[in-house]
Amino acid sequence: PAQYPLAMTPNDPGWNDLSGIKGGPRMNATFVTLARNADVWEIAKSIRSVEDRFNRRYNYDWVFLNDKPFDDTFKKVTSSLVSGKTYYGEIPTEHWSFPPHIDQEKAKKVREDMRQRKIIYGDSVSYRHMCRFESGFFFRQPLMMNYDYYWRVEPSVEFHCDIHYDPFRFMHENKKKYSFVLSLYEYFETIPTLWDSVTKFMKNHPEHIAEGNSMAFLSDDGGKTYNKCHFWSNFEIGSLNWLRSKAYIDYFESLDQDGGFFYERWGDAPVHSIAAGLMLKKEEIHFFNDIAYYHVPFTHCPTGEQYRLDRKCHCNPKENFDWKGYSCTSRYYELNGLKKPEGWQDNSD
Ligand code: GDP
Ligand code: MN
Repeated sequence: PAQYPLAMTPNDPGWNDLSGIKGGPRMNATFVTLARNADVWEIAKSIRSVEDRFNRRYNYDWVFLNDKPFDDTFKKVTSSLVSGKTYYGEIPTEHWSFPPHIDQEKAKKVREDMRQRKIIYGDSVSYRHMCRFESGFFFRQPLMMNYDYYWRVEPSVEFHCDIHYDPFRFMHENKKKYSFVLSLYEYFETIPTLWDSVTKFMKNHPEHIAEGNSMAFLSDDGGKTYNKCHFWSNFEIGSLNWLRSKAYIDYFESLDQDGGFFYERWGDAPVHSIAAGLMLKKEEIHFFNDIAYYHVPFTHCPTGEQYRLDRKCHCNPKENFDWKGYSCTSRYYELNGLKKPEGWQDNSD
């Protein structure tokens, strides 16, 4: 393992010393992507970006998951692009279908109603399976059981700055369990009763609620109502052991019983975020300011010109979402008593 502490800025010892990295100390961690065969060219772009900015120097593994078998093209293209080992898993039907307690007729009526109201993905069955899978099952697929940390990557995303240190190792050394780069308000029509379910869970399982948590990120009235803030889960670096803990599994099962993945359209982003916000200490959630990222339609571009130049960033700082009105990242800063970076006012709108 590297002898120096983790280099985070160009002034830290070891910033330019990559010798200990190539083939060097790696965490027990993997990238993970849920995708369809048709997503191959879009995930190819994401992989190139991850490799160019980070993984070519670390060679972490990459696990691909699909509800159908991956085809040869998907496997050939992705395995040629990833510098680490690649693994391909097929999701079992129980993790990608309606659980027996769901009333199919009721669920169908909801989809029809949401279609008429033009709610995004409101009429989709597969999107609901996807959200439920990402909420409760990806971390317990057999291929994921060997790892401690994951980094979720979706098709068509982009990373704009060099990452000069290992975010997995950062998570481990700093006892972080969950992380984000973008946060925003959820579309209320997709989660009208989610907070009722969460409230019920909190009553039934007070033992899982952490002291010193981030309730103030999620609620403006001490927990009575949800303010809809969530971390955007298309990017996540997190602890698999936390997701596999009794606390998280009890939480997921309680929500799943209430049926909102199908009777509404609960997303895995608010589901993960509320779990992290309530069941982790606030210090266990990390904002990766230095990981510049784009997923349509939002960009996280680090604030501060010198900061971006040092990392060879190619994002437009005007597009940074962090300090805009629809971002929840200011709340995270305030809750954690963090000082906003120099120049944050310049691109707040
Ligand atoms: P959005 O970001 O909310 O617009 O949703 P995406 O279309 O990006 O889907 C989220 C993730 O789930 C992506 O990694 C997709 O590749 C994956 N995904 C979505 N639907 C399906 C599906 O039906 N099957 C599989 N295997 N993956 C899916
Ligand atoms: Mn996406």
